[in-house]
Parts: sequence; C-alpha cells; structure tokens
Amino acid sequence: YHYSTAAAIDEPIKPPVYVNYTKLLIDGKFVDAASGKTFPTLDPRTGDVIAHVAEGDAEDINRAVAAARKAFDEGPWPKMTAYERQRIMLRFADLLEKHNDEIAALETWDNGKPFEQAAKIEVPMFTRLFRYYAGWADKIHGLTIPADGSFHVQTLHEPIGVAGQIIPWNFPLVMFGWKVGPALACGNTVVLKTAEQTPLSALFVAKLFHEAGLPPGVLNIVSGFGPTAGAALCSHMDVDKLAFTGSTETGKIVLELSARSNLKPVTLELGGKSPFIVCEDADVDNAVEMAHFALFFNQGQCCCAGSRTYVHERVYDEFVEKAKARAMKRVVGDPFKAGVEQGPQHSLSNQIDSEQFEKILKYIRSGIESGASLESGGERFGTQGYYIKPTVFSNVQEDMLIAKDEIFGPVQSILKYKDLDEVVRRANASRYGLAAGIFTQSLDTANTLMRALRVGTVWINCFDTFDAAIPFGGYKMSGQGREKGEYSLKNYLQVKAVVTALKNPAW
Ligand code: ADP
Repeated sequence: YHYSTAAAIDEPIKPPVYVNYTKLLIDGKFVDAASGKTFPTLDPRTGDVIAHVAEGDAEDINRAVAAARKAFDEGPWPKMTAYERQRIMLRFADLLEKHNDEIAALETWDNGKPFEQAAKIEVPMFTRLFRYYAGWADKIHGLTIPADGSFHVQTLHEPIGVAGQIIPWNFPLVMFGWKVGPALACGNTVVLKTAEQTPLSALFVAKLFHEAGLPPGVLNIVSGFGPTAGAALCSHMDVDKLAFTGSTETGKIVLELSARSNLKPVTLELGGKSPFIVCEDADVDNAVEMAHFALFFNQGQCCCAGSRTYVHERVYDEFVEKAKARAMKRVVGDPFKAGVEQGPQHSLSNQIDSEQFEKILKYIRSGIESGASLESGGERFGTQGYYIKPTVFSNVQEDMLIAKDEIFGPVQSILKYKDLDEVVRRANASRYGLAAGIFTQSLDTANTLMRALRVGTVWINCFDTFDAAIPFGGYKMSGQGREKGEYSLKNYLQVKAVVTALKNPAW
C-alpha cells in the first residue's frame, strides 16, 4: 500500500494504489468464480472502477458450503479447544490493530466514509468485537438442572454448524464483526456473502485471519450479488443457520427462502425509521448536536439513523434554527481529507448506477412537494461523485413519505409535538422498531419514554453507542433476534438436553 497516514492529516491521502485480494476465499484459498465472471467495485467519490472482483454465484456457494461443512464435521474448528480458538481470534485482533490504517483506507475507498472515522472508530470497533468474542469462546457452557425423578439432567451448548451470513455495504467491517465474531466463538464455520458494493475490506481482513492461524474452510467469503449468491446461500440445504442484515424487503425473501429449503433459523437486522425525541427541558444546543449526529453519521446510511426528529413545541423554533445552522456547517468533501465529516453517498451498485443517490434526491423532492419546509441543502454537492448537501426539513407531518420511509441519506426531518402521550403514540406508529433517542434532563420523562417506546435500543442523552457488549436488534419489521453482547451467542448455539437415569438416587 503506497500511501502515508501522515499525509492524510494535511491533504487527501492517496488511497491504496492496488488491491491485493479480489478473488473468492474458499477453503483457505483465493479462487476465481466457477463461471470466471467478475464485477467492478466503484469509488463513490468519482464512480471510477477500483477493481474487478470475482463474482460468485450458486456454484461458488456450493463450493464454499462444502468447505465449511468439512471444517465443521471433520474439524478442526469445533473440535479444537475453546482456548485454541480464542487465541487465533486474539492474534487476528492484534493483526487488525497493526494494519488499522490500511484497512481503514480500503474501507474509505470502497465505501466513501471519512477516513478519519474509519481509522478511529470503525476499524478499532471491528478489532474490539473480535477481542470481545474471543473472550466468550471459553466461557460457553451448559447447565445442570434439577428435575423430578431419579435423573441427572444437563444441557450441552453446541455450535449449530455451518452459518450463512449476508451483510450490507454501509458498515462492511462492523457487520462482518457482528456476524462472524459470535459464530466462530461458538465453534461454527461460516460462509459470508459480502455486499456487492463493498467487497474489498472483508477479503483483506480474512487474509489476516488466516495469517493468525485460522484453519482453511472455517471462514469462506463469496463476493457477489443478492439474487444469485445471496439467494443460493439462503436456500442451501446444508446451511444450518442464516444471519442477514439489509433491507426489510430483502429480509422477507431471506426468511422465505430459508423456510422453504430446510427451515434453518434466521436472524434479521432490517430497516428503521427511528425517532429522536427532544423534550421541552432539553439543553437545546446539546440536543441539536446529538440529533445531528444521530441522523448524519455515516452519510445518513445507518439502519438506526434518528430520522424522525420530534421536538417539543416550546423549544421547536430555536431547535430548527440551530439544526439548520449546524447542517450548513457540516464539512462535506473527499473522505480522505482531514476534517471531512461527510463523504459521498454509497450509491453504486454497478448495475444500476447511482441508484441510492437518485433515491435520496427523489425523497428530497417529495419532501418539498408535500409541503415540508426546506431549511438547508436539498440538492447534490459539487458536480462529480455522489455527494449530497446536508438537508434539513422542518414542519414535517406524519403522513409525508419523508416521515415514513427509510431514506438512508443525509436528510433530517423535524416534527413538532405537544405532549408525551402524543409523541409516544406518533413515535410508535411505524412499521419499524429499531431504535430511539431521548433527550431530556428529567428522570421521569426518560423513564416514561424508555418504557413506552417499542424499539430494540433506547439511547438516553446519547445516540449510536455501539459497544460490543450491548445487544442490538429490532422490534416489529426491523428484525428478529439480537446481535452483539451475550444475547448474540444463542443465535449460534444448539441446546442439547441430556437426561441420565440414576442407578442409585441416594447419591
Ligand atoms: P441494501 O442494499 O439496501 O442495504 P439489500 O437488502 O438489498 O439492501 O442488501 C443487503 C444484502 O442482501 C446484500 O449483501 C445483498 O447482496 C443481499 N441480497 C439482496 N437481495 C438478496 C436476495 N434476494 N437473497 C439474498 N440476499 C440478497
């Protein structure tokens, strides 16, 4: 990699000039797709091709599943001691730390997110996830249970087998960590289907994982598209568990394919339209900053983005003025430049160019047409690449599309409310239930809202706090199951009850 991190601080650093790994990773080896096909992955700053990547489809999924099956059934992975697995995961984390900035640069290049955020937040978070799950590897065990009669009863917590995992493009590495970390800690083997928009960083880190001692076949990575590679993984009869993060629409397909094939259990982490509630007693300056972060972080491309900003009428006018000023101050530009807060949207799915970008602009037009007040932004930024000006709408009404749909872009919608009961009703009147933010200084208000909101995560006077130990997942159409934390382990474990008749009950 021909760039220097020092240069990143003053001027745009050059992204890595070449990409080492573009093939599929099957059974510990980088291989071409069976079809020989490749697809381009693009730089969202310009639309230029970064590299051509092997395009896996059903046949490659078959090969990857066979490798994972062998590494599970014959070992070594589930047959190793938990301590051995833990040590490999910890060595992997050490290598990640060593290569932190290279990995971050690759992530920025392929995804468009600011390099400073990738280097300081996401890659360290990814590393932290593997240390956290390494810690679990040797602490997973069953119970001894008192039962009626003369029996000794115990449970064994066993790995499920081959886990199929499908991830999106907004946080390529963090999603890899949420999925692969718990699966491997529990002794499963994995076939990971990365997002077609961002295939590069997963291949790079997987190579490091093998350098750390990961045996072949334990982690297989198939780059490729959803309806081909993704669907084949969901439908595979030899995949024992499926984990998916992406849109609610695709989540339904994943669940259906999984049920129709072999009823493999599925965890889903899907879309959201999360409320961020600013109460009348809130410190407005802090609330503005937090609400801004809640929506605009990662170019607005977060499933849990605080995309319905409810502001109490008493502080509404002041909030709108300040939210607008904050958005206009947001630094948009080349994500490799120091101080840049917002890079280009990741809008490229090489088949439908600028799909996501156009979708966001369409929602902005719909906001204007439906009568919301455009306070700032509202159009693309610059003429090249896929940048959008930080956009703030006030006077947003519940029935507007911008208040209901997941936009997945830098568009803040501010809604006015009068009292707590009303805001609870409105916040809960969504098909989604992923997360919520509450901004208040009152313990009673925080407690009321915290209990009333039908969402998987409530952040009080904070937002997007993603510790490895905190479970994450959705109510309603935002998903099924929880990832991260201890809760995530049960997605990857079978419970076997063992009942032994006692010959001599006295003892
Ligand atoms: P988005 O691109 O909006 O995040 P998607 O749900 O389309 O949402 O994509 C998330 C992941 O799901 C990607 O890896 C994508 O390739 C995959 N995917 C898309 N369609 C399917 C499908 N029919 N079956 C399985 N996986 C799919």
